[in-house]
Amino acid sequence: MRAAIMHGPGDVRVEERDEPRIVEPTDAIVRLAATCICGSDLWPYRGFEDGEWPVPMGHEYAGVVEEVGGGVTRIRPGQFVIGSFFASDNTCEICRAGYQTSCIRRTPVGGAQAEVLRVPLADGTLVATPGLPPDDLVPSLLAASDVLGTGWFGAVAAQVGPGKTVAVVGDGAVGLLAVLAARRLGAERIIVMSRHEPRQELAREFGATDVVVERGDEGVAHVKDLTGGLGAHSVIEAVGTQESMVQAVRATRPGGHVGFVGVPHGVELSGRELFFSHVHLHGGPAPVRRFLPELIELIYDRAIDPGRVFDLELPLDQAAEGYRAMDERRAIKTLLRP
Ligand SMILES: [Zn+2]
Repeated sequence: MRAAIMHGPGDVRVEERDEPRIVEPTDAIVRLAATCICGSDLWPYRGFEDGEWPVPMGHEYAGVVEEVGGGVTRIRPGQFVIGSFFASDNTCEICRAGYQTSCIRRTPVGGAQAEVLRVPLADGTLVATPGLPPDDLVPSLLAASDVLGTGWFGAVAAQVGPGKTVAVVGDGAVGLLAVLAARRLGAERIIVMSRHEPRQELAREFGATDVVVERGDEGVAHVKDLTGGLGAHSVIEAVGTQESMVQAVRATRPGGHVGFVGVPHGVELSGRELFFSHVHLHGGPAPVRRFLPELIELIYDRAIDPGRVFDLELPLDQAAEGYRAMDERRAIKTLLRP
């Protein structure tokens, strides 16, 4: 099969690789309808993460089950399924509390930028759609695999709800879908921090009411101006840099909540600043599995259209161009068709 392999920073090639097979009896083999490139794939692409090269890329997936191991009872061949970037049993105490990405049996899912994928712990990890979805729903279902679920978790972690003012730091796919989540969860006002016009436009379509273009302390001052000097009730951090994290904490009012879902790179917070900020912090790798059934239903009902974050669609063979387009910010998110 063909698969996207990263050989080092800036070097992605689509190559022939053996098709995955059932290894554990709890595995499923999924033929992918679509896959995509994640903002987090840009960290190694830009050389900000030490990796062992070459590495098969991709952790977002949606497709049809081809085969299941002997221990799989709930998932069947022929089903269209979506799963998240960590496999989970969905039965342990941590899973049942809604933190499947910290499942005691969690296993990373990798190599999804390919034609076929092996998914461990299939019964716990995969959620089947009501039937074979119409093709136009596939991008939105794929978005549920990570970016939508992650934005949603950011909003839930930031305690977004009716009457709240929400600020979103980051205008990548996760930030934009955090805006969508905040709207669905009933936020009254949604401030998106973005300086890119096409992204501001999509944010407004997803429900943003205000745009703040400044960054750092100037951005914080603008959010405070918009909130009577207090700061937002809920702030979603969807970048993972020192600047974005500090911006998120400072834009939150005392007693407010920060939901941080950007994978931190070099973030160090001052204990003293946190102490006096009086904000709640909650975040981490989003337990997307918790939200998948609800998100799939919303997508099937066409109540939400998160697939709109894919503004570039390419055949898998052109994955390298997909990475370049995202790296140069020509594309928000690239969908790849195997
Ligand atoms: Zn578990």
